[in-house]
Formats: sequence, structure tokens, C-alpha cells
Amino acid sequence: MSDTLVRGWCPGARRPMRSGDGLIVRLRITGGRLAPETARAIAGLAARHGNGELDLGRRGGLQIRGIRDDRLAGVETELADLGLLDADAGAEAVRNVVASPLSDFDDTAEGDAFALAHELEAALVADDFLRALPGKFGFSIDDGGRFGLADVPADVRLRLANGDVAISLDGDIRVVELPPEAAVAATLRLAHAFLDLAPDIDPPPRRMAALVAHVGAEAVFAAAGLAVPGVAPSRPPGTAPLIGALPTHIGAGLPFGRLTAGQLCLLADLAVSDIRLTPFRAVLLPGATADILPRLADAGFVTRPDDPILAVAACPGAPACGSASIETRGLARRLAALKPEGHGVWLHVSGCEKGCASSAAHAVTLVGRDGGLDLVLDGRPTDPPRHTGLSPEAVEALFRSGTIDR
Ligand code: SF4
Repeated sequence: MSDTLVRGWCPGARRPMRSGDGLIVRLRITGGRLAPETARAIAGLAARHGNGELDLGRRGGLQIRGIRDDRLAGVETELADLGLLDADAGAEAVRNVVASPLSDFDDTAEGDAFALAHELEAALVADDFLRALPGKFGFSIDDGGRFGLADVPADVRLRLANGDVAISLDGDIRVVELPPEAAVAATLRLAHAFLDLAPDIDPPPRRMAALVAHVGAEAVFAAAGLAVPGVAPSRPPGTAPLIGALPTHIGAGLPFGRLTAGQLCLLADLAVSDIRLTPFRAVLLPGATADILPRLADAGFVTRPDDPILAVAACPGAPACGSASIETRGLARRLAALKPEGHGVWLHVSGCEKGCASSAAHAVTLVGRDGGLDLVLDGRPTDPPRHTGLSPEAVEALFRSGTIDR
């Protein structure tokens, strides 16, 4: 049985989080690779014990929603049978690693991010001292190929390049380059360095970027016993197109990261090898061909890369989340059709200031507060709003009239 039921926690399988629609159990799938039979089992579990809905998180974790308290023990038993239950909550929490999804299909990948993710997770779990890392402290492993992770939040970043692993810290662009066999040990030393240095600051930083801002990246690398970092060629942000029919895979987008148990079963049925979960609100079927796109579209997946729903972010909002005072996703869908010229996510609708759906700044951010909407331009939910207390109708009217005062 889980040891803690805490609101506001990073939810896990060992430590679920309570939400407006029941408990949320998050599964950390190593490297995001999900065998079809495992996907079917998770879908069945979500339908029987939860409300049949799942979320694909910003780090590629799969969250099962709407689980009743009296079903939790049964869920954990089934997860244990599937090999998806960590020994304890600490082991689960520290296994916060996201990896490029297609190292084995992408001919531009510089190595196998999956194998390195596996090795890193095992080392993190074996190191008891690292259980003290903050819940959101995480690691990324970019294979250096088309499907880069430069936009994915991570405290320590590993990137495969020219036979080595380049390691950098969030908040700094410099890297230390090491042979692959030394990369995991160095990554652990950097995590130790974070835990050694952070308590000397008041208040102690909870993320690497905040520590780097205080002491500089050199101090963190030095505390880890690593050489002074050098400047590496920067990797352009973004990733190659993921959605639709591509040479490596078929990519299916998930509006707001939401997936139903039935959709997960369909993915299992259509998979050629396995299912790849990504941190980009998309699931990939490597080796699959374009003939399955109509079935995916009929089932509600996004199959066109220019679909405007992909350019808006919204958290579950009310009533699914108890912190929300507004409905979010219906409004986001209505506003999505008004997408301005340009690329990327332009609109973020957040049920409250916490901003679960995105930590980035966007052209327009709407934040629920006391039943109304605050409108922030070119910022995050916590930034000063340009308008406050708007109704959804007033927001839509503002957008349609093109009179947002910038
Ligand atoms: S941002 Fe959305 S999902 Fe997150 S706590 Fe606020 S209302 Fe809930």
C-alpha cells in the first residue's frame, strides 16, 4: 500500500496524488518504451480501477486518473505483476529520466539513449543519498539525433555526441565531455554536488538552474570533481516533426496529453514493435506505415502536424483538479481555431497559477483565479496580467476582435 497520499506532490505509483477526479498514479516507463501487452494491461487497469483516462506528462510519464481509494491496493498489485512498481516511493521518485524516443530507428542518432537511461536509472535507485533530491529534479538523455530534448525540462542534461557524452547543467550552456562508460558516475556526482551545495543557500534551491544562478556552473562541476566545462556547439531547440507518417514512425498527437484506455488499446493493436511515449504530447509507433493514420484519426488522435490543437496547452482544470476554479480545455479548444501565424505553442490556459501544463512563457497565458480569467501576454501564469477577472465569453470576444492590447 502506498505510504503517502499528498496533494501537490509529483504523483507516482507508490505515492499517488489526490485530484478532483480521484487519485492519480503516474508510471515512469524507462526510456518511454511500452510493449503492446503491457499497454493493454495498463489500459485495462485504467478502465477497471480508474475513470478510463490517462495523461501523458511533460516528461513522458503515463498517469492513470480517477482511481478510487479502495482500488489503490489492487492497482499496485497489478502494477507489481507487470514489473511497473518500484520497491518504494524514494526509488520511484529518483528515477526521473527522459530519453530520446527513437535512438534505434533514427539514423542520425549518435548512440543508444535507451540503454543509457536504463543504466542511469539503476544507478540512481541504488544510491540512497540521492533520495533527498527534490521531487521534480530530473535528467535527460538526448541521443544527438533528429528527436532532440533541448526543450524538455531537466536539471542535468546528457547528450550523445561524437562517441562521447556531453553533460551540462540547467541554466548553463557549457559541457563536460566524457566517454560513455564514465557518464553515469559523473551524473551521480553532479546530483550529489547539488545536494551538497544547495543547503548553504537560504532558502535552498530546489532546482539546478537556481543553484547555478547562485554559485555558477563551475562550482557545481568542481564539487562533483569534474573539469571546468568548455563551451560546446549549441543544439538548436525543438525536435524534428513527430506527428503523421514519417520514415521512422507513425506519430499520433494527444490533445492536451490526454489519452483514453480505448485509445491505448488501439495503439497496442497497431504497434509493429512497441509504443514510444514522448515528452511532446505524442506517442510514436516505430516501423508502422501510413495506412493506419485513418484509424488513429477516427479514434481521436491528432494526425496532422499543423493541427491547431497542437499549438495550445491546457491543464485538466475544473472539475478534474481541485485547485481550479475554471474549465480550461473547452475554452482552449475554442481559442485554438484562432491560431495566429507562427509556430510553437502560443496559448496556455491554466486552471491556476501553478501552470502544470507548461513552465514556458507563451504569447498568451490565461490563468484561472476566483472563477475569472487573468490574461498574461508573453509570460507565465505567475507574471503580471494585462487583464483580470475576464469571463470565457469576454476572452473569446477579445480574441475575435483582435483588440488585445500588446
Ligand atoms: S495548473 Fe491546473 S492542474 Fe495544475 S494545480 Fe492548477 S488547476 Fe490544477
